Amino acid sequence: MDSVWTYMQDLRDDAKEKFDSKTTYEDRNEIPADLDRIPLEKPHWLRIESVVAVYGDMVGSTKLSVEPGLRATTMASVYELFTASWVRILNEFGAKYIDIQGDGAFGLFDGEGARYPALCAAVTFKTFSKKWIEAWVEKKAGDDAQIAASFGMDEYPVMVKRVGMRGEERQNEVWAGKPINVAVKLAALAEGNQLLASERLYDAFISDFIYMSCGCKTEDTDTTYAGEKVELWSPLPLESEELGFDTAYVLKATWCPTHGDEYCEAILALAD
Ligand SMILES: [Zn+2]
Repeated sequence: MDSVWTYMQDLRDDAKEKFDSKTTYEDRNEIPADLDRIPLEKPHWLRIESVVAVYGDMVGSTKLSVEPGLRATTMASVYELFTASWVRILNEFGAKYIDIQGDGAFGLFDGEGARYPALCAAVTFKTFSKKWIEAWVEKKAGDDAQIAASFGMDEYPVMVKRVGMRGEERQNEVWAGKPINVAVKLAALAEGNQLLASERLYDAFISDFIYMSCGCKTEDTDTTYAGEKVELWSPLPLESEELGFDTAYVLKATWCPTHGDEYCEAILALAD
């Protein structure tokens, strides 16, 4: 590069021309497998009517990363355990698109009833993390190195195309729309072992298998006697209006050792 200013002027002309040309889109019911079909240069997007985004994040990882005396290899192994387990679970429950971001990962589910496998994936990793990952990490990294999983979930239309440069590894899918941003922001508001759902997603659920507990007494529910079915979600008023709704719903529960299979199966069946 001879001159950074000459370089920027060329870039400016090209970028402005693209920015001023008309952006178009076509509707799709599903996240297409051939996202690279649309040329990078063309301002043409695919709009998917309804996408459920679920973002799972590691709470406590910042503290972990500045923990004195903690070996870099220990921390690296925690990241790998957490993220790889979550990605495997997202894949198992049929996420159409999975991306690792920061110290978490998100999965996108599409099609009719996509919110049900998305919820089951989150609750499964929540259960897995609480039952095994937390204890393994504490044992390996010490009492102060506590981590937990937190989740955000939303459902909304989204636009997608590949953006970047021609050539290897210089381009990626860009998801323009609310559900991913909202899921990431909700996960940031969540405490460990909490899943926060947007108001519109919570309202779209239809079954007491989701809204009510199985009646077992666990530390996640406020059941006072065995057999009492209680509300599993609690409303969380949001202070900011940036998400476009004023209440999120918090789920603390994990799969019940006795009824988890039955509930997971019943929730997945709602998608059909
Ligand atoms: Zn139970």
